[in-house]
Amino acid sequence: MSQVEETIKALRAELEDHNYRYYVLDSPVISDYEFDMKMKELQQLESLHPEFSDPNSPSQRVGGAVTKKFETVPHDTPMYSLDNSYSREELQEWEGRIERLMGQVQVDFTCEMKYDGASISITYENGSLLRAVTRGDGVQGDDVTANVKTIRSIPLRLKGAYPPRFDVRGEIILPVKGFERMNRERVESGEDPYMNPRNTASGSLKLQDSSLVAERPLDCLLYAMVGKDLGVSSQFEMLARMREMGFKVPDTARLCGNLEEVMAFLEYWDEHRHSLPYETDGVVVKVNDLRIQDELGFTAKSPRWAMAYKFQSEQALTRLLHISYQVGRTGAITPVANLEPVLLAGTIVKRASLHNKDQIEKLDIRQGDWVYVEKGGEIIPKITAVELTKRPPASVPTPYIANCPECGTPLVRNEGEAQHFCPNDTGCPPQISGRIQHFISRRAMDIEGMGAETVELLHQQGLIQNYADLYTLRKEDLLPLERMAEKSVSNLLEGIAASTQVPFERVLFALGIRYVGETVAKKLARAYKNIDALMAAGLEDLTRVDEIGERIAESVVSFFGNPVKREQVERLRAYGLQFSLSEQQLQGQTDLLGGQTFVVSGVFETLDRDELKKRIEDNGGKVASSVSSKTTYVVAGANMGPSKRTKAESLGVAIITEQEFLQLIQKP
Ligand code: AMP
Ligand code: ZN
Repeated sequence: MSQVEETIKALRAELEDHNYRYYVLDSPVISDYEFDMKMKELQQLESLHPEFSDPNSPSQRVGGAVTKKFETVPHDTPMYSLDNSYSREELQEWEGRIERLMGQVQVDFTCEMKYDGASISITYENGSLLRAVTRGDGVQGDDVTANVKTIRSIPLRLKGAYPPRFDVRGEIILPVKGFERMNRERVESGEDPYMNPRNTASGSLKLQDSSLVAERPLDCLLYAMVGKDLGVSSQFEMLARMREMGFKVPDTARLCGNLEEVMAFLEYWDEHRHSLPYETDGVVVKVNDLRIQDELGFTAKSPRWAMAYKFQSEQALTRLLHISYQVGRTGAITPVANLEPVLLAGTIVKRASLHNKDQIEKLDIRQGDWVYVEKGGEIIPKITAVELTKRPPASVPTPYIANCPECGTPLVRNEGEAQHFCPNDTGCPPQISGRIQHFISRRAMDIEGMGAETVELLHQQGLIQNYADLYTLRKEDLLPLERMAEKSVSNLLEGIAASTQVPFERVLFALGIRYVGETVAKKLARAYKNIDALMAAGLEDLTRVDEIGERIAESVVSFFGNPVKREQVERLRAYGLQFSLSEQQLQGQTDLLGGQTFVVSGVFETLDRDELKKRIEDNGGKVASSVSSKTTYVVAGANMGPSKRTKAESLGVAIITEQEFLQLIQKP
């Protein structure tokens, strides 16, 4: 092996080991920065030496491959479903059946949590990840390898000893915290939140662009190996073996000597399951001895040696007192069920979200109805059904509100959207304070010494009507207010003054334009460089910017077309906020590539991909993710995707090298 090849292999092994420590063991030994540096080094070496490329290099984790159609492939071994049980008695009957089939043998059980996500089967050959396939109909599923490789806790290469070819089976899940974070970000940029972690996890596997999958905090929990000569004799041992190979196998599993111990396990987790970082809907009890499993075999649908025990989804019956409506920062209306307080999973529930008008109609929920409320994980309780036998005789279907409950303005609902909106964004009180709160938030203007309560207080006192008013606050206005001591007043004023130095892209994000989240704000700031150019941009012009679709473009145009907003922007400008890219940011920006569209593919020598894209944008060009007739150039590095090459060739789009690209941006 050459020196370079050795270095590359050593770096890969080292980076995978750090991934393993971080994502599986949850105890990293180096900083994120050190990790990034090593990754850069690997990427550079790989691009200089494409002859050593490896589809299972940790550099592939960021995704990039696009799958247009997921290929259907057969499983080496079918994936079965599980029989369900809901009570002690049913489990005892199951044990009775095993005894009848096996005679009097001592049977141990392994108990595991039943992870609630999307089932996956991953094939490893000679210790390398070969492919990942969804359960599908059990016999064949969809090949989602490119997406699954982006999940950092799934090993691309195994540690220690392993069978030559085998599958592991597991569940791809979204931990509750990650799910909540994703939803927070969606709501912040004015999009509808996802309904639950499970659907979001399985939806993620079917995204076409694997780099989007890489951004989601997915995880994979494993529970079995299947194949020949696995070298283990029990389920519990199998779990341990999988951990040794580097898989994430939760340590909640227990070996139980009899059904009594199994029951104790069930009872414990029925009570404690909400403290787990992921959702679970039950426990899977498995006969531990693999020889006994083998003898018991399968029915048409499921193994005879395993049984799922489903937790009672915690449910309560209570009365719907009335429906109220919340107005969010962006004017989105959320109907809320106000319930007669009821005890559910240890807490008193008084309210549940009804999501939107369609949901109310689907449930046909009416004031005075008795309704079933359920709780899943940490997520807010939801109403699953109406008890129709208890419906009061005079009830009428719920009319959805036509006007904003806060300001009376007629509501609107955009095509293709589930939620209604109050369009009165400059006069509707919760929108006003919500927008100011967004403005001061950490990722926007990050005004220290100010929180949601302060905003409420100042708004109620009539001191601020919009975010521009923040910059007119004076010490003497604030001192008389409750909880405003000398010290907190000066902190607040200093925080406000300091915010005038916050860079343009964050100011743009802070303005609270619907659909303009952090990333979009950055793109717009880069593309237009200052607020005047952005305000002057029309729909068509805006949609020419990478990743700016019609929906965002319309929202931007309507924001700046509104004289009230315009005036606020002008005031903010007068107070000294940053409304253009700084000198430093502007350096190296030209219009040499104006009107040209680029697609970047492969691995590059002198620049990394992000740097290359930045150069394109800095020079006025546009970066697109897929080749089309609108593409001016494809910049091709080593290992360029074959489908992109074919597409470019068939469309007659010029393919250029990194060097040729660099010549394009040479200043005359
Ligand atoms: P069901 O879909 O209800 O028939 O349940 C079968 C599915 O449960 C399997 O396809 C697995 O993906 C999933 N599952 C989750 N956790 C486990 C576990 N610990 N052992 C076996 N299967 C599990
Ligand atoms: Zn309103």
